[in-house]
Amino acid sequence: MRRIKRTAEALRDVIFPSVCEVCGKSLVDGEDVMCLDCYAEIPRTRSHSDSFGVVHQRLASTLPIDRAASFFFYYRENPYARLIQKAKYNHLPRYASWLGRQYASEIVPDGFFDGVDMLVPVPLYWWKRFRRGYNQSVEVAKGIAEVTGLPVRDILSARRHSSQTAKSAFERWQNTREVYSFNGCVAEIENRHLLLVDDVITTGATILSCGKAIHDASPTTRLSVISLGITQLR
Ligand SMILES: [Zn+2]
Repeated sequence: MRRIKRTAEALRDVIFPSVCEVCGKSLVDGEDVMCLDCYAEIPRTRSHSDSFGVVHQRLASTLPIDRAASFFFYYRENPYARLIQKAKYNHLPRYASWLGRQYASEIVPDGFFDGVDMLVPVPLYWWKRFRRGYNQSVEVAKGIAEVTGLPVRDILSARRHSSQTAKSAFERWQNTREVYSFNGCVAEIENRHLLLVDDVITTGATILSCGKAIHDASPTTRLSVISLGITQLR
């Protein structure tokens, strides 16, 4: 089976030679997804060792967030942002896990994962998950897990909730948002340290809402956050 896979991959490389997703240059042996030059140029936030860095500031609320880190700044038209968009919309979940793996490898030596007990991906509403075929946050978590050996626990669920105050059907559709709830076993997370995993942090509302669902179920659980991208607020 492995041989068939390797042959298929070699064949694919002949038909579609691998190119850097950022600059379009042909990749050489040992490079994957992007070339080493573009890898070095990733607009990193370097937030992982900061006790009140850019991610903490975005998530500043009444919810206690222990550690918080994002791999890079997410600008809409930026080729690095396109990697995450491709991971989500072009059926390339391996980009999400690759980025998760790379980021984890970079920050492991600084102790970012020390004491963390499990990775908890932000869930997708079932219909989105069904249409996409996967949840990109789970893929990011899998990449992190490959490096850290931490278990990935799917203990949150997302459902749709439309605002009661909206008048028209269109307004109700527009005001529909995801509501997160804890669906695991409280004993499993009490006094544990959970690392919430998302692809991109924008306002921070999603990840805070996930954190709140966990905190409400188990106030003794420590919460940290990791994402691939974080948008820049203007
Ligand atoms: Zn490149």
